[in-house]
Amino acid sequence: MTAGSTAPRTFADVYGRPPDGTWRAPGRVNLIGEFTDYNEGFVLPTTLPFATRASVARRDDDLVRVASAQYPDGTSAATEAVRVSALRPGTVTGWPAYALGVFWSLHTAGCALGGADVLVDSEVPIGAGLSSSAALECSVGLAVRELFGLDLSLEQLALAAQRAENEFVGVPCGIMDQMASLLCVPGHALLLDARSLDHRQVPFDLERSGLVLMVLDTRVRHALGDSAYGDRRSACERAAALLGVRALRDVRPEDLGAALTRLDDPVLARRVRHVVTEGARVFEVARLLEASRLEEVGPVLTDGHRSLRDDYEVSCAELDTAVDAALRAGALGARMVGGGFGGSAIALVRSGATGAVGEAVRAAFAAAGFSAPRIFVAAPAAAVAANGHPR
Ligand code: ADP
Ligand code: MG
Repeated sequence: MTAGSTAPRTFADVYGRPPDGTWRAPGRVNLIGEFTDYNEGFVLPTTLPFATRASVARRDDDLVRVASAQYPDGTSAATEAVRVSALRPGTVTGWPAYALGVFWSLHTAGCALGGADVLVDSEVPIGAGLSSSAALECSVGLAVRELFGLDLSLEQLALAAQRAENEFVGVPCGIMDQMASLLCVPGHALLLDARSLDHRQVPFDLERSGLVLMVLDTRVRHALGDSAYGDRRSACERAAALLGVRALRDVRPEDLGAALTRLDDPVLARRVRHVVTEGARVFEVARLLEASRLEEVGPVLTDGHRSLRDDYEVSCAELDTAVDAALRAGALGARMVGGGFGGSAIALVRSGATGAVGEAVRAAFAAAGFSAPRIFVAAPAAAVAANGHPR
């Protein structure tokens, strides 16, 4: 392609033939349960009406090519063909690692795979904490499972996708994103035990309650985020070892006070306090959802934000500004989501107040000298349709 020509968008544009099929996996937003998954605790994600679609055709050889409508590189439509059996962690960089990692993960787990041509196209905002990475892995995983007749449950596929991200891409994420992308059902949140992978659908009918979930994407990502994830994770492991438990999930909320007295390091104590109180908030929100008391979820989300800001110390000025402005403008609750140091916050808002909340957050960003945030309604689907697309 020459510079200035339009980006390839359809499978036929890229590969000159139709795909065998198209498989869809959505992004997710985690209602509550931040940094509990790698502590083997509980999370409560819900699905988004935005998804990634993988169009895939089998090949007669064992070569794989991948292309993305979001990453047309201007010179070639698809990556160089790679042999499935030649894939090794560290040999592929950039976004293709997310797609090729799924082939690597399934192949090294003993699945018989052939070659394929892959095109992904996504509506999930990328890098906003809504899990575009898992949506990509899972859409490719679903395609590969069906095209090669793999006998894998959705849980096994989620684990294979997580392994692709952990070992092939090199991002130490927990299991929540992949499980949410594959198992969340519209109108529900998924109460997921990250240790056993047991899960239960909890009704989450925003529409009936006249509420929406807004995403306040700060569009910043501070460099600190990369090292902080591993730092917090190892702090949790250290604390669990000091407390003599397998993971912090095993510290019950009623035992938190006693546990904290056994930790000399005040930083470690704060990290533990976040994880344990956050675990309790997951059950509190699940209980409120089951009782259809959705408005009362708001303050629990806001408590979660304070815990992330003060105890886990993963917030930043932009996230705090977004949360504070949303609350002042009438949001029922708001909190940062995802890895922190940027990315998005979510706000639970009465349907009629989305305009005021959006305005308030924009004004607060302008006043603080931050670049403009991206703000959109993420759920329910009907409200999204009325408010337009996030991109
Ligand atoms: P998030 O999952 O919160 O969106 P991540 O940093 O975990 O953010 O994942 C984003 C990365 O995933 C992108 O930088 C890119 O490498 C890859 N990715 C996500 N969606 C796509 C897509 N549609 N096409 C190509 N790569 C994608
Ligand atoms: Mg991700």
